[in-house]
Amino acid sequence: MRWGLIGASTIAKEWMIDAIRANDGVISCVMSSDETRGKKFADDHGIPHAVTDLEALFTHDLDAVYISTTNEKHYDQLMAAVANGVHVLCEKPLALTLDAASKMAQACENAGLVMATNHHLRHAATHRAIRQIVQDGQLGDIHAARVFHAVYLPPHLQGWRINNPDTGAGVVLDITVHNADTLAFLLGEYPEKVTARTHNHGMAGASMEDAAMGIWEFPSGVMAYTHEGFTLPHAKNGLELHGSDASLYAEDVMTQQPKGTITIRRNGEDTVIPTASENLYERGVGQFVSACKGGDKPDADGWAGVRSLAVALATLTSAENDETVSVDYGKSLNQ
Ligand code: NDP
Repeated sequence: MRWGLIGASTIAKEWMIDAIRANDGVISCVMSSDETRGKKFADDHGIPHAVTDLEALFTHDLDAVYISTTNEKHYDQLMAAVANGVHVLCEKPLALTLDAASKMAQACENAGLVMATNHHLRHAATHRAIRQIVQDGQLGDIHAARVFHAVYLPPHLQGWRINNPDTGAGVVLDITVHNADTLAFLLGEYPEKVTARTHNHGMAGASMEDAAMGIWEFPSGVMAYTHEGFTLPHAKNGLELHGSDASLYAEDVMTQQPKGTITIRRNGEDTVIPTASENLYERGVGQFVSACKGGDKPDADGWAGVRSLAVALATLTSAENDETVSVDYGKSLNQ
């Protein structure tokens, strides 16, 4: 497939260019708003063309674009891709509002184009193993989940995410979306109600949060506790699922790296579950490519991106208004 990159971004540089090429993708062009940065990015990564606007991008013969600009730009860029008839792999959060994100998913659907949201964690071998364990009923009835996803935002990413509210900055739009998608993937359901608190520990600018905690209530009765943060250099990450028959502890699995361990504890005895090591982003791109060629739709499609955004927006509303919020998924829950 012939790809265009919309955004000369860190995630493209660190993971996605390799993941696209590992799936036999040819990257024809990168679009950056800055000519010098775009040219350097193209040279550094062996991309033949760099352009500074969408019109120039779509003069190239493309099958798909990967959008990894700052969050407020995703909507217009995706709509331009749809107008030009190319498939879209879009970064999370899809947009800043539920309405915008829903229109993005709907536009792709109406045009018969594949849309995927880059929720990489669904593609971790660990997460897939946990999902299978849940589906096999090994934990019994699940009563509780805990997600530990508070990190230290590396210095090279301490830019718009913590200092520019117009971009959809803050830890909730950045990380809570991943936690929502992860629990939906593992449990097969989305939370109905969210009660959340956010805090600023001094990394993010005024009026933005760099820490969040939430309590989520699911239709089945599962209660989940989630923690997202940018300011914790020493914290471990992971998740736990607690059921009537067993508890599952997954350490170091809320990460971009193909690593982590899974342990099931039953009657005080621990059993370690072996998992393979597979590049998360390569697998995600592989699913997207397969869908573009007529295969099954991606696990994390556009509507999954809408739903994860809905949970993040409910988190922000809950924290702001000091209340429990019923999550508004729009029509995305029925898609
Ligand atoms: P970056 O800050 O690296 O890139 C975002 C934009 O910032 C780029 O499009 C670029 O604009 C601009 N930019 C890049 N370098 C510079 C610079 N030196 N000076 C000024 N501007 C610069 O963001 P990320 O790669 O961290 O995130 C991009 C998107 O990807 C976000 O939506 C984020 O949420 C998502 N993301 C997803 C991850 C996942 O695992 N799914 C992980 C990390 C991020 P231009 O293109 O115009 O040059």
